[in-house]
Amino acid sequence: MGLLDGMEPILLLRPCKVRRILESLEKDDRKLLEAAIADRTKWTSYALSRALAERGIDVKADTLSVHRRGECSCLKT
Ligand SMILES: [Zn+2]
Repeated sequence: MGLLDGMEPILLLRPCKVRRILESLEKDDRKLLEAAIADRTKWTSYALSRALAERGIDVKADTLSVHRRGECSCLKT
């Protein structure tokens, strides 16, 4: 068996900023933010961005929108 047998390209899934924030949060906060991200009727991306900024989390509305639409790097599987 050679050193490189079975070598496969490594899929680099870069977590986008939204996912990095989610992963940095405590479980309860994470659930709350995940629910807010999923609830587009209650939370516009802009409102969510502002609410997070007030809590010291800096994320642009555009970044949230891209994640919500599934166009961010972390959802490309
Ligand atoms: Zn993402």
